[in-house]
Amino acid sequence: MMEYIELLYIVSTVLLLMGLRKLSSPATARKGNLIAASGMTLAIIISIFSPIEGSNNNYLFIFGGILVGALIGVFYSKKVKMTEIPELVSLFNGYGGACAVFISILEILKFNKTTSLGLSSTTYIALFIGSVAFTGSLVAYGKLSGKVKDWRSSISSYFNLFWVVLCIGLIVFQILNPELYEFLPIVILIGSLIYGVTFVFPIGGADMPVVISLLNALTGVAAALAGIVYDNMVMLLGGILVGSSGVILTLLMCKSMNRSLLSVVVGGFGSSYQDLEGKDQGAVKETTVNDTAINMRYADNVMIIPGYGMAVAQAQKTCKELDKILTEKGVNVNYAIHPVAGRMPGHMNVLLAEADVSYSKLIDMEDANNKMSDIDICLIVGANDVVNPSALDNPSSLIYGMPIIEVLNAKNVVVLKRGMSKGYSGIENPLFFHNKTKMLFGDAKDSIEGILSEIKTMD
Ligand code: NDP
Repeated sequence: MMEYIELLYIVSTVLLLMGLRKLSSPATARKGNLIAASGMTLAIIISIFSPIEGSNNNYLFIFGGILVGALIGVFYSKKVKMTEIPELVSLFNGYGGACAVFISILEILKFNKTTSLGLSSTTYIALFIGSVAFTGSLVAYGKLSGKVKDWRSSISSYFNLFWVVLCIGLIVFQILNPELYEFLPIVILIGSLIYGVTFVFPIGGADMPVVISLLNALTGVAAALAGIVYDNMVMLLGGILVGSSGVILTLLMCKSMNRSLLSVVVGGFGSSYQDLEGKDQGAVKETTVNDTAINMRYADNVMIIPGYGMAVAQAQKTCKELDKILTEKGVNVNYAIHPVAGRMPGHMNVLLAEADVSYSKLIDMEDANNKMSDIDICLIVGANDVVNPSALDNPSSLIYGMPIIEVLNAKNVVVLKRGMSKGYSGIENPLFFHNKTKMLFGDAKDSIEGILSEIKTMD
């Protein structure tokens, strides 16, 4: 019997791997998701019906739990708006961490004199990492949804360093002296949950994407550790897959944001951040739908730069129509994709793939910057932080050092946004006041529809 179970676990692991592989391209991502989901379903079924020593296989609780979880999952996924997907993903990630916490608590309750050092260390580490992933993801959810603001103080980095050392110290003490203080596991749990909150609270702006992928990786590691505790191969391998892909994504994010992981995690030791707020930056130049349409129609090269505002306006399909008609009229149109545009990794790629924009038209940031001097018009569709030149020339800016799409090297810049509000990092953008830039105020989709209907009337 055990051999069959092991074999089925291998099948579900292979399905998870195949799914992950297919997720690497928008063309196969949907299929990949389905394959990975079927692997997970198989793993759940095997786990439920595997005989476990000492377990009373309480199927009422198991199926009751699955039903409630599935209903909540279906309800939320149906109700959630496209722009709220990143928050939902953060919340789901937090639930993964919470599962590791519950598993660890249940195991700790079973510990006795014969418990091995290996098992107790693994369980306490799973408790710590799962707790940080849980509360950290809840704070990330709050920040992404705009319900929680960044909270920074001059001592927050020092406090976090002290707190994490304290938690690790308590864990080591408890592992070596399991019988001494019965209340210590509860202190460790509370301390770890608090660390998740204080760790994510001060991190903001350009560092948020790195933190989100790091939390993802932590949840994977916590699940892998829980897999070791339960001696469950598919849980271990699933956790390793999530953990390792999360680590790879975190390092890629750090690289593309020009940040070291350490500087993100400890966050701005003694940094003095100054916004341009209150400084006179001159007046903005407004333009009209008609002028923009004429300039785009008679341009040779147009670069569209999508940002979070494109997701809010759901303007991706209209962008594609604009691209199509311009291309038909002989204009060369491409899209410059910043790695952290939007609110989740690959956000712009997903939206543009949904609108059927050819993948060959998407240019990554570095290549786009190299081509910029040939571009006649950069059309910025609801992007802000990812085109903010303060990242290049204001060393006291919160986003200083983050690579941006350098639109000022193009001949003309048109920005589509509704007003003068700031981007996610909450700082002013001097680009909007630059003499090369023209602002076309309004909802991005409405503005592009306007441009589109003007261009349709031109030769
Ligand atoms: P930003 O959040 O910097 O700016 C978006 C802009 O879109 C706003 O200034 C807003 O201005 C405009 N906007 C909103 N709705 C509309 C609309 N309907 N029509 C037109 N414009 C609209 O977006 P970016 O993509 O430039 O930058 C992403 C930011 O998010 C970065 O700071 C990044 O670090 C952060 N982040 C990214 C994550 C990721 O994984 N990608 C995760 C977490 C954070 P107005 O209201 O005036 O219209």
